[in-house]
Amino acid sequence: MRHGYRHTMAKAGRAAVARAAADHILQIMAEKHSVLVVEDDGALASMLEDLLEGEGYDVVVARDGQRALHQGLTRHFDVMVMDRGLPVIEGLDVVERLRSKGISTPVLILSALGNPADRVEGLDRGAEDYMSKPFDLDELLARIRSLIRRHPDTSAMLRIPGGMLDIGSRTAKVDGAGRVALSERECEFLEHLARRPQQVFTRAGLLESIFADADEGGVVDTYVHYLRKKLGRSCIRTVRGLGYTLGPLA
Ligand code: CA
Repeated sequence: MRHGYRHTMAKAGRAAVARAAADHILQIMAEKHSVLVVEDDGALASMLEDLLEGEGYDVVVARDGQRALHQGLTRHFDVMVMDRGLPVIEGLDVVERLRSKGISTPVLILSALGNPADRVEGLDRGAEDYMSKPFDLDELLARIRSLIRRHPDTSAMLRIPGGMLDIGSRTAKVDGAGRVALSERECEFLEHLARRPQQVFTRAGLLESIFADADEGGVVDTYVHYLRKKLGRSCIRTVRGLGYTLGPLA
């Protein structure tokens, strides 16, 4: 009996330690900022990846404009570091296309094109910052930190059809309906779609990601109905035979 008790206590202790460790890891993961590095020069791309990972960032590297666009449209990043001369799609075209799709992630252009006219063009076409090559590593890191500080809300405010979704206050502000309060689940659902505005989500996928505790698939359609009722029919688009996607962004 006594042995059993001690054994149970030891097990409970180990479980608590494991839980604390898991919490700690989750906390670190939550605080990690993510950077998309877009660079076709392999040596420079690896150097930037190592440098940024060493600084504690989560780094994804894209080696051409098409891949950069795909990453930018399907994943959330806190900052993008973007070369200009890239295969397939030029860097500033990538920035413009991302902006036209409602992606507001701050972009730092890192380019060999460094005269004032190049910088003006880069900033006018949607970049937040511009550095020319060759560049100073410490300055690059400082500018990335500064961009993250100046854009703390890129992950908390998301574009939705006709307005914005404010994750922090769980409200949506849309044309015609004003400020609308959302339930936790409604907000989570809409956030899921709004973070990947180009992606079509299957009912099964949504059920698994958002309604894992539900026992029937109809709950997805129910929430689509709730959100459309609150924010207008166009907030979520039905893709026949496939599932749902965020409605068109203006
Ligand atoms: Ca290049």
